[in-house]
Amino acid sequence: MTSVDPWSSCEIQKLQLEDTAIKSILEKKLNSADRPSWQEIALESPATKQYWALWDSLQLKDGVLYPRWQSDDGSSCRWQLIFPKSRIPEVLRKTHDSASGGHFGIMKTLRRIRKRFYWGRLRADVEKWCRECQICRARKRLKTRTEGRLQRYNVGAPFERMALYILGPFPVTKSICPSINGLFYEAA
Ligand SMILES: [Zn+2]
Repeated sequence: MTSVDPWSSCEIQKLQLEDTAIKSILEKKLNSADRPSWQEIALESPATKQYWALWDSLQLKDGVLYPRWQSDDGSSCRWQLIFPKSRIPEVLRKTHDSASGGHFGIMKTLRRIRKRFYWGRLRADVEKWCRECQICRARKRLKTRTEGRLQRYNVGAPFERMALYILGPFPVTKSICPSINGLFYEAA
């Protein structure tokens, strides 16, 4: 049995062609270097039009579509893989939820994804993913839980109500304080 590398160019191209928003732009790029006219894409989805707007930055590498961004001084360029919709949850999970993801916030998760990937609703998807993450929500609840204010308790007699604070264990100090039975504990 042969296993398919899910990140191979061949497999990614297959997934891009299965994604209806990417497919028509990828096919047009494969057939011609010229940007199609607005009339040609007028009936396509908003997502396809978003990729069409990037036409001049879109490049094919091993048959796979990438926006290629040049740095301002032209010294470096960045390739962002146009990511097929079917694999987006996988990238969000790996970038945000995994042990290396660390459940960082929206902006950091966005920055990490944008280093390598691009898709039409990337920002909205990252925001939704981070907002709905159960672990982040639980952490937020813990952080926002405030301590209760001290209240006055009215009692009718001494020692009617007692409270104990249980702390420790504390290390034993080396100094001896004879006034308290020879033992004195210091806070850690
Ligand atoms: Zn999270």
